[in-house]
Amino acid sequence: MSSATPPADDSRSLTRRTAAELAQMLRTRQVSSVEVVQAHLDRIHGTDPGERGVHAFLHVSADSALATAAAVDRARAAGEQLHPLAGVPVAVKDVMTTRGMPTTCGSRILDGWIPPYDATVVRNLRDARMPILGKTNMDEFAMGSSTEHSAFGPTRNPWDLDRIPGGSGGGSAAALAAFQAPLATGSDTGGSIRQPAAVTGTVGVKPTYGGVSRYGLVALASSLDQAGPCGRTVLDTALLHEVMAGHDPLDSTSLTDDVPDVVGAARNRDVAGLRIGVIRELSGDGCQPGVRARFDEATALLVEAGATLVDVECPSFTAALAAYYLILPSEASSNLAKFDAMRYGLRVRPEKVVDPTAEQVMAATRAAGFGDEVKRRIILGTYALSSGYYDAYYGSAQKVRTLIQRDFARAFENADVLVSPTAPTTAFRLGEKLEDPLAMYLNDVATIPANLAGVPAMSIPAGIADEDDLPVGFQILAPARADDRLYHVGAALETLLEVRRGGPLLDRAPEISSASVAR
Ligand code: GLN
Repeated sequence: MSSATPPADDSRSLTRRTAAELAQMLRTRQVSSVEVVQAHLDRIHGTDPGERGVHAFLHVSADSALATAAAVDRARAAGEQLHPLAGVPVAVKDVMTTRGMPTTCGSRILDGWIPPYDATVVRNLRDARMPILGKTNMDEFAMGSSTEHSAFGPTRNPWDLDRIPGGSGGGSAAALAAFQAPLATGSDTGGSIRQPAAVTGTVGVKPTYGGVSRYGLVALASSLDQAGPCGRTVLDTALLHEVMAGHDPLDSTSLTDDVPDVVGAARNRDVAGLRIGVIRELSGDGCQPGVRARFDEATALLVEAGATLVDVECPSFTAALAAYYLILPSEASSNLAKFDAMRYGLRVRPEKVVDPTAEQVMAATRAAGFGDEVKRRIILGTYALSSGYYDAYYGSAQKVRTLIQRDFARAFENADVLVSPTAPTTAFRLGEKLEDPLAMYLNDVATIPANLAGVPAMSIPAGIADEDDLPVGFQILAPARADDRLYHVGAALETLLEVRRGGPLLDRAPEISSASVAR
């Protein structure tokens, strides 16, 4: 990422900077945090609104971001010891509670809700004094792979404004790819960090289950949900990972281990002797030709750099999608029961009922407040959990989950990391899969196994598919608690690819401006 150094006062150039570069410029007082934040706010205002705007943000918190920035600038001027990322702005997925700032999860049912508390992840960002630019768009309650299930309208992919940015965290990924934010947070239950990263040419990491607190992360499926970092480079993503991660007494599934040295690992580019396991079930048939081609080239580069490829079989992975679509709806139906019209956001009185009961108000509110995909999954989940069906559906799915964990354990006996394409295709067109839930679900075949087993996984840009000029994602998976291996291999591959390509992949993305979004 050694591009020529444009003048520090050029606000466009500030938004092209990596978080690591911005941190360095702030530390050496080449630029102020207020200038950095203002440049990003200008970029958001120029590219986000409008008929064909990116629409990465559901809420922009300009005043509070600038206030944090000004406080950081004052503290720095006074010689205070600051966190390395202090003053570097970040966008937050709207699934994380933010005190005093709207949190909708992309749903009408939470419209107007202002949380009285911060998610631990958000607390950590504030403790590091990172200005929060706003809340990013997402599929409703993180159900989807395109952000088209957001109740507030979809996000557009900066590579092609007629295409999806992935989901559910399409807002965070698009904000990065559109240079609206240098860093963003995400949550990944079945791929919602990695698949958006893949289709926008950015980096996303699902940490080890328990590595990042889930407190204040509005629950989709609690045994699968994991918050994680999104960035444009592997090093930036590591820097954010370090801020987000760590033990949290407020989350009973939070790991007590020390956070792996992800930043150190992202600076180690030596892959000689590493064993890279190619997952046979995820790396062949069913992938778009350009996805397969970029994947094969990337693995070949690792071999040239001294790594060894191992062919790895994970036969149970073929049942992962089916198991996921029983476990996720089951847990989601239970987690979403709390939206009862009494506690949060929306309350709808049923029409033509003079004195409605609480249950009638609840039914009317849920009917009006939830979108189709959420309703579909609640119905699926309550059905799978009903007595008489529980063992056949939920019980069987849990058994598949155990088999997947065993496949991973066996695979990691012969390989240090596993790899596959992140998603089988590049970004599809808006509307293309909206009416076909199964086609939408198939985007996650390669990402879901990591959630079912709790292991960490990363997506980095592998290049551009020849057939459509759109970005392709390369997935790296590591054993539980070995998140540092993702960053080690990811940073090495990122460098190898950039040397070959002659620069970061996002330099190839078409320029978007207020003119292109206004068209
Ligand atoms: N696309 C997947 C789903 O719809 C992933 C969701 C997620 O990771 N939050 O369930």
